[in-house]
Amino acid sequence: MKIQYLGTGAAEGFPALFCSCPACISARALGGKNIKTRSCCLINDTVMIDLSPDIFWQSIANEISLSSITSIIFTHTHHDHLDRFALMLRCRDGASIMPHLPDSENFIDVYGSADVIRAIHEAFATQPHANPQRIHCHILEENLPIEIDGLVCIPIKANHMMGETCYIYCIIDGDQAFLYGNDTGGGLDKESFRTVIALGVTFSVVSLDCSRGTLIGDSHMGMDEISKLCGMLRENSLITESTVIYLNHYSHMCGIVPEEFDALIRASGMSLTYDGLTMLID
Ligand SMILES: [Zn+2]
Ligand SMILES: [Zn+2]
Ligand SMILES: [Zn+2]
Repeated sequence: MKIQYLGTGAAEGFPALFCSCPACISARALGGKNIKTRSCCLINDTVMIDLSPDIFWQSIANEISLSSITSIIFTHTHHDHLDRFALMLRCRDGASIMPHLPDSENFIDVYGSADVIRAIHEAFATQPHANPQRIHCHILEENLPIEIDGLVCIPIKANHMMGETCYIYCIIDGDQAFLYGNDTGGGLDKESFRTVIALGVTFSVVSLDCSRGTLIGDSHMGMDEISKLCGMLRENSLITESTVIYLNHYSHMCGIVPEEFDALIRASGMSLTYDGLTMLID
């Protein structure tokens, strides 16, 4: 499985768009891995998890033509994960010219909760030039595996928003398993845990929300929630010594620049994702 992080920051990015806190001032000066665009991830070159408002620059920086993306799996409707305008551009025939595809095959599959699919339908209402036939929508049910481009994807309930079903995802490719765990405030309810245990996998890579950094978690995780969740995953043999643990969706909230936070968490055997991080696991 190939995992490519296109963006690794929280909703406001790092440095935050309009922020002059010391961490954002430092990040602007330091550059490099301290610059984080909004989170989204590409699996095996064709399946994306979320579509960030930075997707234009992410596609240029990573030399990816988005015309090769066949499927997008959405975690939830927050605008840093579901960029309606970018998605509508895929549906504008004048903006997405695909001579390599017959018209009947010129579409993208999108997956998410009923709330995500509703938000996409609402976006069409504001975009008269977007052709709805260019998107095939699929509603995902909690804990129910679905096959997407050779990957098995299992939506697991996230603890993130009132009034909306939000998912994190287990992604399985052959004997490799990846947990993409943001945005969530941490913990898994009993049924979710049972589902993950029943998969019978040990995760090769786990990627967890760390928006809160050293702060106490809320609808996002901080280090306390992360270590509790890792403890539960370890007790159930879902992660072992060989599992690579990344923290993702990092924000300026705790006031620590990304490279310092990375140095801090390395003592616990974890590392911070960065834009462009790519790994091949087999
Ligand atoms: Zn987010
Ligand atoms: Zn800031
Ligand atoms: Zn969110």
